[in-house]
Amino acid sequence: MNNCIFCKIIAGEIPSAKVYEDEEIVIFKDIEPKAAVHLLCVPKEHFAYLSELDGARAALVGRTMQKIGQLKEQLGLSAGYRVVINQGENAGQTVHHLHLHLLGGETLGW
Ligand code: AMP
Ligand code: ZN
Repeated sequence: MNNCIFCKIIAGEIPSAKVYEDEEIVIFKDIEPKAAVHLLCVPKEHFAYLSELDGARAALVGRTMQKIGQLKEQLGLSAGYRVVINQGENAGQTVHHLHLHLLGGETLGW
């Protein structure tokens, strides 16, 4: 998608600190970490909102969450972590390509 920073990261057009990649998702370090471990888990398909989920995308997001659970030790999240999906203006979403924030590596305040 034109001018989408995460699509450019996925395409390798701008650098990122990738920690995992497969055919349908990429996980890389957030450039402005809000916790000791702050990763972004990004499905490679470009869409912005949960309201755009059809059956195939819902299944993709399900597999994405399953993969996060499988990778938690490797990602440094074995002691617990938080998954955040910002949606829209009030949530402060700044990148309009669906992504899951993975926060952990320390005790998190609410
Ligand atoms: P959101 O506010 O939920 O849309 O989150 C977007 C996140 O992307 C923010 O936490 C940013 O710090 C992060 N971010 C923006 N540009 C980059 C980049 N080039 N590499 C890594 N993380 C980025
Ligand atoms: Zn995109």
